[in-house]
Amino acid sequence: MQTEDIDLQNLGLFDDGEEAVDLGALPAERSSLPNEIPQPGTLVLRIPGNLTADPAIFGQVTDTEGYKRLRIKFTEDMSLLIQPSGTPLSYNVFDFRRTDREGNVRGEMLSFLRALGTSTATSKAEMVKSVLAARGKDFKADLAYEATCNPKRAAWRNGKKDVEPGCGQKYDMKARTYPRQDGTQVVILQVPRDPSGKWLSQFACTGCGADVRAFVRLSNYRAK
Ligand SMILES: [Zn+2]
Repeated sequence: MQTEDIDLQNLGLFDDGEEAVDLGALPAERSSLPNEIPQPGTLVLRIPGNLTADPAIFGQVTDTEGYKRLRIKFTEDMSLLIQPSGTPLSYNVFDFRRTDREGNVRGEMLSFLRALGTSTATSKAEMVKSVLAARGKDFKADLAYEATCNPKRAAWRNGKKDVEPGCGQKYDMKARTYPRQDGTQVVILQVPRDPSGKWLSQFACTGCGADVRAFVRLSNYRAK
């Protein structure tokens, strides 16, 4: 593995052997630029050539179980670049395995590093150096939308802030249902499309009319 002799002291990383902990309880934490998010599908993405060991990019987040996790936050300044257009895509990559409500494991960092050809990194510092060593490198990933009508915040409806919060409805690329432990059903709706078939990254919730914004999910990282 190629890594650079870079001083990572300012990142304050430490390695504590927690990588194998299952983090099923962790909430989804993803981000994207508020506008110009691309349509779902396979993308070629480039690691930004100006990436540095910046604490704003590489940092630690504490998960719901108290473990410190490596997070790479591709921001507007140092973002993944969609090829060939060069359009920036902000995105967070984490070093843990995340399990969704249906039990599917969504690994991020290790499959991300594998796509960059540097899958041997096992410590946080090696992971950071591996990503820095992949500056300018392209990889492939599948982009999907997911959205939740936020039940914890006052919703916007028809352009006005409403007193009623969102209804909690979740949206994904495919409508589906699955049972909760108590036997009731969770219903996930499909992200709506416009009449031309274009997926909508912002739409009105079919349940309560609240404005809902889709977030980007990357998966299936692989070499270009
Ligand atoms: Zn709703």
